[in-house]
Amino acid sequence: MDIRAAREALKLYFGYDQFRPMQEQIIESILQRKDVVVLMPTGGGKSICYQVPAVVLPGICVVISPLIALMKDQVEALHANGITAAYMNSSLTADEQYAIENKCLEGELKLLYVSPEKLLSSGFLSFLKRLQVSLFAVDEAHCISAWGHDFRPEYTQLKALKHQFPQVPVVALTATADKLTQKDIQGQLHLANPKVFKSSFDRPNINLTVKPGQNRFKHIEEFLARHHGQPGIIYCLSRKATESLAQKLKASGYKVTFYHAGMNPQLRSKAQEQFLRDDVQIVCATVAFGMGIDKSNVRWVIHYNLPKNIESYYQEIGRAGRDGANSDALLFYSFADVMNMRNMLSEGEGNKNQTELQLVKLERMQQFAEASACRRRILLQYFGEAMTKDCGNCDICRNPPTTFDGTLIVQKALSAIARTQEQVTMGLLVDVLRGSRNSLVLQGGFDKIKTYGAGRDIGPLDWNRYLHQMLNAGLIELAYDQNYTLKLTEQSRQVLFENRQVQLVKFEEVKQQEAEERFKPRPKKELIKDALFDRLRALRKRIADEANVPPYVVFTDSTLLEMSAERPTNKISMLAISGVGQLKYGHYGDAFINEIIDFVTEEQAKGNKLKGATHLVTFELFQKGHTPDHIAKERNLNPVTIYSHLATLYEQGYDIPIEHYVNKAEYKAIGKMLDKYGTEAKLKDLFEHLEGKYEYYKIRLAVSMYKKEMSW
Ligand code: ADP
Ligand code: ZN
Repeated sequence: MDIRAAREALKLYFGYDQFRPMQEQIIESILQRKDVVVLMPTGGGKSICYQVPAVVLPGICVVISPLIALMKDQVEALHANGITAAYMNSSLTADEQYAIENKCLEGELKLLYVSPEKLLSSGFLSFLKRLQVSLFAVDEAHCISAWGHDFRPEYTQLKALKHQFPQVPVVALTATADKLTQKDIQGQLHLANPKVFKSSFDRPNINLTVKPGQNRFKHIEEFLARHHGQPGIIYCLSRKATESLAQKLKASGYKVTFYHAGMNPQLRSKAQEQFLRDDVQIVCATVAFGMGIDKSNVRWVIHYNLPKNIESYYQEIGRAGRDGANSDALLFYSFADVMNMRNMLSEGEGNKNQTELQLVKLERMQQFAEASACRRRILLQYFGEAMTKDCGNCDICRNPPTTFDGTLIVQKALSAIARTQEQVTMGLLVDVLRGSRNSLVLQGGFDKIKTYGAGRDIGPLDWNRYLHQMLNAGLIELAYDQNYTLKLTEQSRQVLFENRQVQLVKFEEVKQQEAEERFKPRPKKELIKDALFDRLRALRKRIADEANVPPYVVFTDSTLLEMSAERPTNKISMLAISGVGQLKYGHYGDAFINEIIDFVTEEQAKGNKLKGATHLVTFELFQKGHTPDHIAKERNLNPVTIYSHLATLYEQGYDIPIEHYVNKAEYKAIGKMLDKYGTEAKLKDLFEHLEGKYEYYKIRLAVSMYKKEMSW
């Protein structure tokens, strides 16, 4: 099995021309039956990494996922692409399970999604032994790590897979990037010398903004006015807040619902369904919402309250813009939220170490909100990824705060960390730098080191802020698993030994100002307000409702955006749109082409000039039986122009009886010249080479025939 088959499957089933960076190598490894670990952000395209191998490998791919609510959607989306799949979890009746087992045994399915409980339930692994399992995909693999935020004890038993099926490759996938989790995944799944693929965790299409928590409702209304009709999520800390906020928004005329774990399952799935299907624009929710959401056209996420850690924040904002089109993440930050959360954590039952860990993570979240350096840099740094430039798509980049040369301060701190053998916490480091004589300092003998007291001139609070900036900039790291001691990084070595300069932020300047959002160009794929896009969106909604699936299962926003920009009006150009595969073309292609043609002709009738669509008007008239000369008169154009339209249409695959205008002998003569001078030659030159024997329009048509013939 080689990668070419995989590329063909990508185009045929998913409608994509190319793999994204890394997808190809991952799939290649899987096809060579190697175990792999995939670390990619939400929206990075993890599913393709196992779905494509599932399609091309003989047998069935078993996907283990803890997200039961998501399985139905995933299976629906696969069906929409023409891939057979099913799921098994506690939500099915015995009869339903039995029917699916039969399908598996008969080799009818390419993918089977199961919950970890189902997988580990008695007899299930032996059942799998009766099938030809091509691949195990362990989704949300970070659930295996007790250090993470979604720990699921059942996951630690998944090592059974490798023991019972040593010959079947395992691919473990997660959107969590930290090193500890990665270590746990490799170790606990007992993978055989796996290849680890870590893609960038950057989501450049998500704009990041933090605002102070005053007047939140007013800010939200302003925000929504700029996001007219676009679907989004507002995360709130409490269940009550989701309800009251939804009520207020409803009173302001928005289509909105709410979602939290305290609602009964029917109401919850109704809310989710309404959102998935674009029946409501907004859902106000607790963090319980979203694990089961794979909606690719979420255009924005607002955090009404501070999330409890950066992992959660990143995961939650990651629900926006999965389709790659521009999206916004807005976070409200208030110190009261931090205190609230601290209290909740401290009062919680959890064991002491866990609580402590969560408090430190909360602190990192707070630093992010208070930060005065590019926010994306901070996020990526947190996941161990260094960016070389500021992002240009966050509030700080748009409104940069003032800085000063802080190299000396940073060097003092780094040198103190080095001289204390990277064994001190942040608090102790400040004590050492300030020359404190407390017992921990004396016990460690830190009063003997060279940098002891080197930072007396800076107050403890200021030191703390500088150290947080250093942490955010990747100049130091915090080792959660080693008593929160500070560690040097590659970048700190550059400051210590290679004289790298560092800028620090002046505190007095860092007011959380109401950002006068200066305009900066956004990355490509701007979600333009386009009349055709709106029409295609409406068509998608009608089709989705009829088929009883969420709209993004029909086509994603990105696909519709490309359609509205390219305006494909025939099969060839429609199939060239990213996201239009053969099966989807068969189901929806004509409907979308007709909508585009209608749009273009209506615009034309209104006298709006549309680039590149004029030949479609010619086509309309031609189809109604008008001759080219008549069309030329009617449209007040040169007949050669009309023939040139027909030639273009013919090249694009429209049914044009071109041989009516150029007979075989004529084509042969003109074709000879084309052999010699090529199809790019000027019509005028060809006309002259042919000694004026053939009219321009015949030459133009012959060029198209020739091109088409060559492309066979
Ligand atoms: P993840 O599981 O990593 O969150 P998904 O697999 O849901 O991400 O993919 C996110 C989006 O990107 C989906 O709409 C998917 O169809 C699209 N996508 C994935 N791979 C490609 C590709 N090679 N070309 C174009 N779009 C892709
Ligand atoms: Zn930035």
